[in-house]
Amino acid sequence: MGVAKQLYQLQEVDLELESNEQGLKQMTSQLGKSQAVVRAQTRVASEQQRLDELRHQQRSAEWEIDGLVGKIKAVEEQLYSGRVKNPKELTSLQHEVNMLKTRRDQLETSALEIMDQVEIAEASVAAASGEFKKLEAEWHNQQQQLSADIEKLKSKLSDLKHKRELLSVEIDPQATEVYDKLRKQKGQAVAKVEQGICRGCRISLPSSELQQVRSGDLMQCGSCGRILFLP
Ligand SMILES: [Zn+2]
Repeated sequence: MGVAKQLYQLQEVDLELESNEQGLKQMTSQLGKSQAVVRAQTRVASEQQRLDELRHQQRSAEWEIDGLVGKIKAVEEQLYSGRVKNPKELTSLQHEVNMLKTRRDQLETSALEIMDQVEIAEASVAAASGEFKKLEAEWHNQQQQLSADIEKLKSKLSDLKHKRELLSVEIDPQATEVYDKLRKQKGQAVAKVEQGICRGCRISLPSSELQQVRSGDLMQCGSCGRILFLP
């Protein structure tokens, strides 16, 4: 096999290696936490906090109502016991009962409102946790798939590296040196020759150059400097 063909094959492997390495880098960067999942989790926590606050308010209102009911009972007992005869005192007790009842009624109204809000908040917590669980499950599947793809790609890369080693031991080290230098400079070191044209720079080769290319020896394009390969 001519050295130009060997270098061309080497380049094919190198280009494949390059694109697979980029793919691996990109995939690896996708591993890890998902912002969407973190956001959903934060939302569950804040909805839950709101629900806890409302439940706390609800309990406080209920305790206060219980306390008022007890007080009303005590004052009414006093009022209707017949023990209190003084009209002024009776009026004052009646007045106290009325105030306590007004306060109790207000609290009962607000307890009902809080109860409604608790129900709404419970629904919000349920919706937020549902969304969080869904996103987390999706993310988990994606990560698993991604890890599997990464492993596959890593094994492909190792095969390619092995292939590259096998190819490069066959190639004259001086030719490899020229190739490596051109790869760094131009990305593509070997250019195909098609219909007498260098595909690297699209310039027609003089017939003398073409003849040398046909021999399969190492021959660089007089215009762009790439190694010429005639398939
Ligand atoms: Zn050229």
